[in-house]
Amino acid sequence: MIIYGARAVHLKSAQPKSIICPSCSTQGSSVISIYRKHAHIFWIPLFPITKNGISQCQHCKKVLEPKEMPEPIKREYINLKNDTKGPIWQFAGLGIIAALISWGIYTNIEDKKKESVYLQLPQMGDVYKYKVENGNYSTFKIVDVSQDSIFISPNEYEINKIGQVYTIDKPENYSEIVYGMSKTKVKEMYDSGEIYDIDRLE
Ligand SMILES: [Zn+2]
Repeated sequence: MIIYGARAVHLKSAQPKSIICPSCSTQGSSVISIYRKHAHIFWIPLFPITKNGISQCQHCKKVLEPKEMPEPIKREYINLKNDTKGPIWQFAGLGIIAALISWGIYTNIEDKKKESVYLQLPQMGDVYKYKVENGNYSTFKIVDVSQDSIFISPNEYEINKIGQVYTIDKPENYSEIVYGMSKTKVKEMYDSGEIYDIDRLE
């Protein structure tokens, strides 16, 4: 269950001396309060939604919404609201999301850098994940390397979920039969996305 909603945070209150309560006519008894609402998910603030407020007379306890405020109270309310900034933490969720996205981009770039090294200097034991023509996914493992070719042992299993390819990457699944492939061909398969991941135990 995802719990989400909105929560209002009190930002600021003021009690202007000049204003008169429309209900009991007491002067200077009204407190104007400004709140900012934010959306939350599991109580983690995501981003602010609205800023608004109320006034309450401390004498007769009458509460006024902005649309009910007489002009002088409304003017004070708008001034106070415009003067008040909400806390930055109400953006926490957006910050977390932005951080996750940049972390994802960063690790992806680091992965690609590593893989380009693996392609140029293949090593025995490197595991390549690739798309099979029938839409499944499988792997092959490098068993030998020469000047311009790699020699691979194909995985005898395929799987239809890309996220579960690691489950078939077991020593006993690799074929005894060895195929040679030119490094140029491997590079082409990588550039076209047919080979989509290269793993090396380090
Ligand atoms: Zn009053």
